[in-house]
Amino acid sequence: MAIRNIRTEEDPVLRKVSRKVENFDDKLFLILDDMKDTLLKSQGIGLAAVQVGILRRIVLVNFDGRIIELINPEIIEREGQQIEAEACLSVPHKAGRTLRPKTVTVKAQNRNGQWCIYKGTDLHARCFCHELDHLDGKLYTDNLAPGESVYFTRDYD
Ligand code: ZN
Repeated sequence: MAIRNIRTEEDPVLRKVSRKVENFDDKLFLILDDMKDTLLKSQGIGLAAVQVGILRRIVLVNFDGRIIELINPEIIEREGQQIEAEACLSVPHKAGRTLRPKTVTVKAQNRNGQWCIYKGTDLHARCFCHELDHLDGKLYTDNLAPGESVYFTRDYD
């Protein structure tokens, strides 16, 4: 297991579309374990594989100490709206208010390839949307609520 370097916004890899995971093998398990170490070290609540330079559709979230591995995730239902601040490990020292659904339902495979369903509200919904956007080369800064702009923060000092 190892901590991987987190790519930041000027890195063009963050703008690329990640590929589907086809093989649920030792190579995938290594990526998942390294992503877990990296997420815990960074104290973020979510990490997409592309943020450590791996163009695969893999996301980890840390919801109140529970790490969930999402492989080939898709949002299958969106309800309501929220406008709240968001930040990103790949966009350090900044935050911005985004327009997101209030609740989302996500379908994803686990490390054994089994499909699972997760529902997230408020912060968890923002996190799912934010991390899944990474898989399509998008950053939260693309998704700011009308009239909002990115501002500087000290959160990641
Ligand atoms: Zn991010």
